[in-house]
Amino acid sequence: MRRREFLALGGALVLTGCGAGASRPTATSAPVPTTAASTPTVTPTPTPVAPPMAGTPAEIAARSTVPVLCYHQLREFEPDDSAYTRTITTPPAVLTAQLRALRDGGRTPVRAEELVDHLEFGTPLPDRPVLLSFDDGSATHVTVALPALQAMGFPAVFFPMTVVLDKPNWLSSDDLRRLDAAGMTIGAHTWDHQRLDRLPDDQWPTQLDEPAATLAGILGHPVDLMAYPYGAWAPETLPHVASAGYRAAFQLADPVDPARPLLTIRRVMPPPTWDGPTLLAHLDSDFGPAA
Ligand SMILES: [Zn+2]
Repeated sequence: MRRREFLALGGALVLTGCGAGASRPTATSAPVPTTAASTPTVTPTPTPVAPPMAGTPAEIAARSTVPVLCYHQLREFEPDDSAYTRTITTPPAVLTAQLRALRDGGRTPVRAEELVDHLEFGTPLPDRPVLLSFDDGSATHVTVALPALQAMGFPAVFFPMTVVLDKPNWLSSDDLRRLDAAGMTIGAHTWDHQRLDRLPDDQWPTQLDEPAATLAGILGHPVDLMAYPYGAWAPETLPHVASAGYRAAFQLADPVDPARPLLTIRRVMPPPTWDGPTLLAHLDSDFGPAA
């Protein structure tokens, strides 16, 4: 069950419960205990709990101004790194410097679930929030990112592709459980990093359903967030993502889809050349209010 449906169902149950409490049962419909005649029969009225109200797509799009950063491999450059590899490689000292810049710049990293709740329901976030995300499942996410995040007290979300799990230089199942236990969020990133803007029809279960099930089996709880490999998506992709049970999905630089903004949350990849002031400037310039 998708969390949104679960929340909606929970809300319906709350309302049902409140309604039953408000209309007192009659003597014919339900016997009232009479063992303590002197005991007042007035029952306390439960405080109504308003169920979360999902925003309209336009409201969610308008809230989509929280910066989300996307990192990949966290290691030193190597001589044979391609130009592309250098765009997805962040030396550890650069990561630390960028995290320090966020802290010193008054930014507050939030959990992915907090951001999605904010987008969907309008729940408040701390001042100047930011979300940190790490794609693909490199082992450096536990050897470099986790200690750096914990030193700052920062949460983050990790999106490993499931094909690499438990292979050398990639995250293991134990690593995922360790990240989860440390308060980090785990989301899916397909099975083997296929572009989801052009996927053969018979591949959707492999790339969307099975990774969520695999991760849920490792972690022992549902996984309902995902990130698009290469940030690539198309309008035709989104019904597949929704029907696979994902609550929210993260892309890169495209505008959010006006009909499904929760499934097209924007991110930026901070190049290793960005110093602290440059990073902070981009958070403001790249995630302004939606037009
Ligand atoms: Zn990726």
